[in-house]
Amino acid sequence: MQRADAGELVRDLTATSADTARVIAPFTGDVLHELPLSSAQDVADATAAARVAQRSWWAAGFAHRRAVLLKAHDLMLERRELLLDAVQTETGKTRGQAFEEVFNSAGATRYNALAARRVLSGGARRAGIPLVLRTRVGYTPKGVVGVITPWNYPLSLAIMDIAPALAAGNGVVQKADNQGALSILAARRAFIDAGVPAALWGVVAGDGDTIGNAVVDAGDYVCFTGSTATGRKVAQRAAGRLIGASMELGGKNPMIVLDDVDPVKAAADAAYACFSAAGQLCVSMERIYVLRGVADRFIPAFAERVKSLKLGSAFDYTTDVGSLATAAQLARVTAHIDDAVGKGATVLAGGRARPDLGPYFVEPTVLTDVTSQMQCFAGETFGPLVAVTVVDSEDAAIDAANASDFGLNASVLSGSLSRGRRVAARLHAGSVNVNEGYRATFSSVDAPMGGVKQSGVGRRNGPEGLLRFVESRTIAEATGLLQLPRTGAEFAKLVPAMLLLLRILKAVRRR
Ligand code: NAD
Repeated sequence: MQRADAGELVRDLTATSADTARVIAPFTGDVLHELPLSSAQDVADATAAARVAQRSWWAAGFAHRRAVLLKAHDLMLERRELLLDAVQTETGKTRGQAFEEVFNSAGATRYNALAARRVLSGGARRAGIPLVLRTRVGYTPKGVVGVITPWNYPLSLAIMDIAPALAAGNGVVQKADNQGALSILAARRAFIDAGVPAALWGVVAGDGDTIGNAVVDAGDYVCFTGSTATGRKVAQRAAGRLIGASMELGGKNPMIVLDDVDPVKAAADAAYACFSAAGQLCVSMERIYVLRGVADRFIPAFAERVKSLKLGSAFDYTTDVGSLATAAQLARVTAHIDDAVGKGATVLAGGRARPDLGPYFVEPTVLTDVTSQMQCFAGETFGPLVAVTVVDSEDAAIDAANASDFGLNASVLSGSLSRGRRVAARLHAGSVNVNEGYRATFSSVDAPMGGVKQSGVGRRNGPEGLLRFVESRTIAEATGLLQLPRTGAEFAKLVPAMLLLLRILKAVRRR
């Protein structure tokens, strides 16, 4: 991506403060651009504009929104090279992993365009007293949704919240992370060119404590994706306003390798699941529990596979693992490696920074002998570091996998799908992949995605992801067939009939 493209894209930000942030391109360490930053007034202005635009967007109806969003889907695919360049330039990931973002964004846009009417049309429900009452449920959009997104998957994590919010008839004000703003603005252009009114989706940038807070304070609902620590603050702030919120937070995702796997295939699948986006993926694997029966074949195959991964910064499909995104990420990951090695962990692969490739490159690192004294044992590294532990049984693997404060994603590798499913059903996580690391669930946009325990509250994707963005309204009416009792005398007359009705309703199993 050229500087000229960046300069052109940032004009779409709502950002009038005099401040800028210097954004570094992770592949080179060069200044990518000076990102204009928003003020709290910009957030208020963007919200007010989105509020006005939302009225006609909602009034235009499902068919119009569906047509616009399907067009946005097509434009994203047409403009994929620009999107891939933007994602790679800002995050340092490989072309293949940037493509996963485009694939997922298109999938989420298509799904929500096509599913919104079915999920949100409302309709008749069982009335409390058949024939005497008639009951319907309808859904109305929340209004303006605040969306706060991180830098690691700037495109797909934004679209997985914004496409359903728009499909449900809302406006959006999004706070982009500084390191992901260009990717978001490039995708937003596709939506605007497809027919989304520009004011309907405002994008602001700036410091989390001021601009992030302003977004939470202005909207009618908030979607947050980021760390558990920040998510807790955002949830508390949203609770103070009594607005709803979905929280997509951190993980410490376990993979179980059962003893019936093909060790070479399992090693290749595990390597991708751990080191996609250099491990800077909320759903990538940081803990592997391998059954003793296969450990002496799986572990060497895994170490070999990881050593064979090609690191680099190419803007094509010739590399397997990219760079970390920022200097802060480099510091965090190297601190976890140094801490573990200093306390006795054994390095089976990687373990070193690679400044020869770029300022923030770190080798995919496989450790064994990781103990609870080490930072990477229970805390999220969010980088290319995985701890491999040998366990004696399936039960021991499940117990170890579940022994975490987090519960975002998990994976089971097995030679038998039914055995894999059985183990999957016992894992405490919002999503579990069998014979895949994360892509089986991540790409299944008709199914809910989210975390349990400290990994989040609420779900994106699927009908659940759409229903976040509406208020339900129940309208029930008296048909006039029978007057409900109002006085003691009327109750005395009707109570026996009403008791009989309750018994009949249960007998005929009417809900
Ligand atoms: P982060 O929490 O530091 O920042 C996320 C976003 O919140 C950024 O835009 C940031 O500017 C903003 N922010 C910071 N302070 C804020 C505040 N007080 N109020 C409002 N907004 C504020 O997270 P990060 O480092 O950008 O992302 C990495 C983390 O995100 C990891 O823990 C990862 O697991 C998690 N994550 C989770 C998912 C998921 O779907 N569950 C997806 C991606 C990343």
